[in-house]
Amino acid sequence: MKNNVQNKKRVIIVGAGPAGLFAAYVLSEFFNVTIIEEKSFIGGAGLHSDGKLNFHPKIGGNLTDFVPYDDAWNIINFIEKKFIEFGADPGKYDEKKMRELEIKAIKHGIKFIPIKQSHIGSDYLPRVISNFKKVLEKRNVKIEYKTKAVDFRVKEEYVNSIITSKGELKGDYFIIAPGRGGFEWINYLVKKHKLDYYFNPIDVGVRIEVPNEVFSEIVDDYGLWDPKFHIRTPSYDDFTRTFCTNPAGFVVREYYSDSIFGVNGHAMKKYTSGNTNFAFLVTIKLTEPLENTTIYGLRLAQLTNTLGGGKPLLQRLGDIIRHQRSTWERIKRSYIVPTLKKVTPGDISMAYPSRIMTDIIEGLEALDKVIPGIFSDSTLIYAPEIKFYAIRIKTDQYLKSTNLKNLYLAGDGVGVSRGIVGAAATGIIASIGILKNEDIETKTLFERYDN
Ligand SMILES: Cc1cc2nc3c(=O)[nH]c(=O)nc-3n(C[C@H](O)[C@H](O)[C@H](O)COP(=O)(O)OP(=O)(O)OC[C@H]3O[C@@H](n4cnc5c(N)ncnc54)[C@H](O)[C@@H]3O)c2cc1C
Repeated sequence: MKNNVQNKKRVIIVGAGPAGLFAAYVLSEFFNVTIIEEKSFIGGAGLHSDGKLNFHPKIGGNLTDFVPYDDAWNIINFIEKKFIEFGADPGKYDEKKMRELEIKAIKHGIKFIPIKQSHIGSDYLPRVISNFKKVLEKRNVKIEYKTKAVDFRVKEEYVNSIITSKGELKGDYFIIAPGRGGFEWINYLVKKHKLDYYFNPIDVGVRIEVPNEVFSEIVDDYGLWDPKFHIRTPSYDDFTRTFCTNPAGFVVREYYSDSIFGVNGHAMKKYTSGNTNFAFLVTIKLTEPLENTTIYGLRLAQLTNTLGGGKPLLQRLGDIIRHQRSTWERIKRSYIVPTLKKVTPGDISMAYPSRIMTDIIEGLEALDKVIPGIFSDSTLIYAPEIKFYAIRIKTDQYLKSTNLKNLYLAGDGVGVSRGIVGAAATGIIASIGILKNEDIETKTLFERYDN
């Protein structure tokens, strides 16, 4: 693509994760685009995941909060098309099978969300990102590596320039997309520049590990890599859900902050294990007097780590039901060997409130009716797994800050997405906002991008 960068307005994007990269892709046809990235590579947290792509406007954030339903689907389809071009497999969706599973779930009072999904695999993801990078280079996008955005300079409700570890960059528009790792920086910006915000709910839960055989029907018969089930629990009427399933995968540690570790999971295409893991999460919204869900989540994570002697806790489901702690000796009685060993067998109910424990137990019991074998004595439970969704800076429908007129916000770090496709979509929505601001026609936007 020919792109004359002279005489074009300048867009500065902070963060080369999916949100920043897709924004750069869309905007590079019309603007002179620079991405500021503190690391020496692009891809963000997405590059370190295993690339499960969920092609649905209401998964990984809710795009219909910003754009009409049809537009949201156009954005999702565009992202899928681009990922395929960069080397990912097309999303899989067997309508008949999805309906079958939906009916099975409904009969047990569970909601199954049918989604077109694709799985790149941790081992194949770098190739996809490298192809993305080549396309951006062709479109003259400039990437400033090892450059940390520190602050921005504001004049009369407009951002003038961004201050980085390597100097100051002036721009006409700014997109801030620093991912969850940029959480503290976002907090700093909010306070310093008095940006309006509110707290998102938080997801507190555990990571479940079961033998692959338990998931074989879901993976082999239904062709699903990461099934999404939503369950309301009977005792508290709380919302619980499955998230980030990794068939034949591995449970891993995830660093939160201040030497606190949680757990996560990933799966590769070539290297596999005998276990499947997934997160089981309880959504928690706080009102007064403590609205700050992050403080609440961090305290729970801290307590779990303290009990684990600085490590996450591991407990058999049977031990949770019998109200006893797990020990390595008891874990060995399970028919499943944990894939994460840097944990302490213990008692999760000493750290998690009884409401959350009840939600987890009741939710898993219900899920067992659709995926038999989950509610078994041997099932392994790791904690903490907490999804901090950051504070949400107030924006208009195109993700423009309500306080600063040329500042746009995208991705997980500003609380508008929680996943690769969702983050990419918010980068595109922010870009559409900028194009609209310049009176550039956006109706046929996606038809134009064939290379
Ligand atoms: C272990 C793990 C597994 C996951 N698995 C999946 C999965 O299978 N499917 C899925 O959909 N999602 C998954 N996710 C979530 C997914 O990775 C994120 O939702 C997604 O990457 C968010 O994109 P983003 O662009 O908002 O932010 P990020 O991908 O986090 O990118 C932000 C970028 O900004 C840079 N940055 C931050 N602050 C600054 C600064 N001040 N200056 C300059 N640069 C800065 C960072 O270095 C980073 O490169 C996983 C996450 C983890 C941690």
